[in-house]
Amino acid sequence: MQQNYKEALLDSIFNTLTETAEELTLDCYVIGGFVRDYLLKRGTPKDIDVVVVGSGIDLAKKVASKLQGNPKVSIFKNFGTAMLKHKDLELEFVGARKESYHHDSRKPVVEDGTLEEDQHRRDFTINALALSLNKKNFGDLLDPFKGVIDLGNKVLRTPLEPGITYSDDPLRMMRAIRFATQLDFTIELKSLQAITENKDRIKIVSNERIVEELHKILASIKPSIGFSLLHRTGLLDYILPELTALEGIEEIEGQRHKDNFWHTLEVVDNIALSSENLWLRWAALLHDIGKAPTKKFHKKIGWTFHAHEFVGSKMVYKLFKRLRMPLNDKMKFVKKMVLMSSRPIVLSEEFVTDSAVRRLIFDAGDFVDDLMTLCEADITTKNPKKQNKYKNNFKIVRQKIIEVEERDHIRNFQPPISGEEIMKTFNLKPSKEIGIIKAAIKEAILDGEIPNEYDAAYGFMLKKGVKMGLFAINKKN
Ligand code: ATP
Ligand code: MG
Repeated sequence: MQQNYKEALLDSIFNTLTETAEELTLDCYVIGGFVRDYLLKRGTPKDIDVVVVGSGIDLAKKVASKLQGNPKVSIFKNFGTAMLKHKDLELEFVGARKESYHHDSRKPVVEDGTLEEDQHRRDFTINALALSLNKKNFGDLLDPFKGVIDLGNKVLRTPLEPGITYSDDPLRMMRAIRFATQLDFTIELKSLQAITENKDRIKIVSNERIVEELHKILASIKPSIGFSLLHRTGLLDYILPELTALEGIEEIEGQRHKDNFWHTLEVVDNIALSSENLWLRWAALLHDIGKAPTKKFHKKIGWTFHAHEFVGSKMVYKLFKRLRMPLNDKMKFVKKMVLMSSRPIVLSEEFVTDSAVRRLIFDAGDFVDDLMTLCEADITTKNPKKQNKYKNNFKIVRQKIIEVEERDHIRNFQPPISGEEIMKTFNLKPSKEIGIIKAAIKEAILDGEIPNEYDAAYGFMLKKGVKMGLFAINKKN
């Protein structure tokens, strides 16, 4: 006997689907992510995929005409799919189909098919589960590949032979690793081997799709699951070679450095515990990429990674560009975090002076908290004494940031004296002197020589001008 999963479908939208399919004498089923997530109790998904034995577009149109507000149906004729939005739900309709693939493309040749044929083209057994919306067997679970058992065992398996599944559409390799990360599932060994064998097929997947999966891995509770699978299967060499270049420990004359790849994965897991910010997670992933090209051994001081933050921040731009990620504010944020990733560490190792904190706030601006969060996540030492010491030092830096900011307002620093006022005071035309004076005022404030206030800055400007041989002709009253 099939178990009945009617309760999942006790929503008016499903009744509408059932009635409409009956009128059109079509069979239809909810399939894929909705069913999987419902059975995993991951909440009620907002995306509903409906597979129709016949025309998905016809069913979508008719359903829309019955729904409140007659929602617009977006039709993708080439794919034989239709989409409509109803309340907070997004319904996607697709005709059941059979697929066959050519070697050089992940776009299949498509023919109409049965439900079972459609289930065969799905990527994983847990994504091929279908619930019937038809009157005759409403709520029955159609599970030809024992996907429910796989859900229980937390295993990702492909309906077809894995070699074929991954070679046909190599995006599925990324999806396997992404689902393993999101759901904390194991990829069955046969599949993992097939991914390893087909890794170079990733070349036919667009960067946009790869990045979409990377985002989802990074947004998971424990992103290292995904990155170690990408590493183990060899996919990471194709996608983010900057990271695999960090792997390994070298030893010369008894001096070793840490393995910066595995360290990075720990940092990413740490940051995932303290921040939901996807871009901060990217920063954690990339914070040490400059270490591979800057690594050197010196007889006297041992291993160094001189200027790795600067080199790494330059690499961020190239990496984003290569992966066709937008070169926007998010990229600039990641770059900045990588560039500044050692600043609070250096600070916390010494006596924390006000002027060093002012400079940190000035350079990090609104992102100073994110930077501190990144540095705290960067503590991966297993030595409890050291760990405590570092954490404590960062606490002190954080406290100092609050105090200094309250007093000096450096965070969104606006020069207290404008360029125009400098021009007026010394009767100058636009010239480099103005920039020099402005910069000197800023430096004096950051060094604590003068407070961040107009009067003090004005006095400082006059003195500076005199030193430069300028005459103040327009003194304020
Ligand atoms: P989520 O929406 O959480 O990413 P999902 O399983 O719903 O998970 P979608 O990308 O929305 O994933 O796809 C819906 C369904 O379509 C999947 O459950 C799966 O059955 C099928 N599917 C999607 N992409 C592929 C693919 N590349 N190969 C085979 N089947 C796929
Ligand atoms: Mg979905």
